Parts: sequence; structure tokens; C-alpha cells
Amino acid sequence: MSDCLFCRMVSGDIKPDLLHADERLLVIRDINPQAPFHALVIPREHIATLNDLEPRHADTVGRMYLAARDLAAAQGFAADGFRTVMNCNRLAGQTVFHIHLHVLAGRAMHWPPG
Ligand code: 5GP
Ligand code: ZN
Repeated sequence: MSDCLFCRMVSGDIKPDLLHADERLLVIRDINPQAPFHALVIPREHIATLNDLEPRHADTVGRMYLAARDLAAAQGFAADGFRTVMNCNRLAGQTVFHIHLHVLAGRAMHWPPG
């Protein structure tokens, strides 16, 4: 998917501020952080939205959450708390159509999120 921003990061065409990479995932810093710490956990496989998930993606999505947990712990946010968010489509505010898990930390989060 050469027109997909995150596929271009996976292929190495665009170099993000990388926090972690493994055979299944990339973890990058968000370019427009919404909290003192804001990272994105991105699967290497192109999946456009949460609506497009299939049972075969279950392991990848599970690994996304494990990576978020590990990242929060490594950055020192596990005890105080952090937020994970995955936006799906227009009303949720999805702007990049390759799924990604936001990991936000370093400030109090509001609920409902608005
Ligand atoms: P969404 O709105 O789809 O849930 O989240 C997309 C996120 O990608 C946004 O938080 C936005 O700031 C981030 N983003 C967009 N373009 C880039 C980029 O070129 N580099 C990085 N690191 N993040 C980006
Ligand atoms: Zn993609």
C-alpha cells in the first residue's frame, strides 16, 4: 500500500521516531502529541480499520496491547496510569486508515473523552 503513511514507515520509505520494532509491530512517537507521552503501536500488516479485523488478526491485536503495556512500563507510566485508544472511522476521528493503538500518558485523562 504505497499510498498508506504507516505502510511507508513499515517499508522504510519514511523514517519515523521509532521506539520499538519487531517482526509484527512498529512503535513510534506521534508527530502531534496529545499528552506528554504519546506513541502509536502499528502492525506491519495493513489493516485499514477495526471494521476490517478478521479472526486471523487476533494474535497481532493481542501483541499490540502487550506492546502498549510493555511501553507504558518501560516509560514509567504503569503505576500512575495511561490510556490506549483505537479510533475507527470518521466520527471517532480516524485520520490514518491503517490501524494503530494510541498510547497516551503523563497527564490526567478525562472521561468521557469527548
Ligand atoms: P488517528 O487520528 O487516525 O486515530 O491517528 C493518527 C495519528 O497519526 C495522529 O495522532 C497523528 O498525529 C499521527 N500522525 C499523522 N502523521 C504522522 C507522521 O507523519 N508521523 C507520526 N509519527 N505520526 C503521524
Ligand atoms: Zn497501511
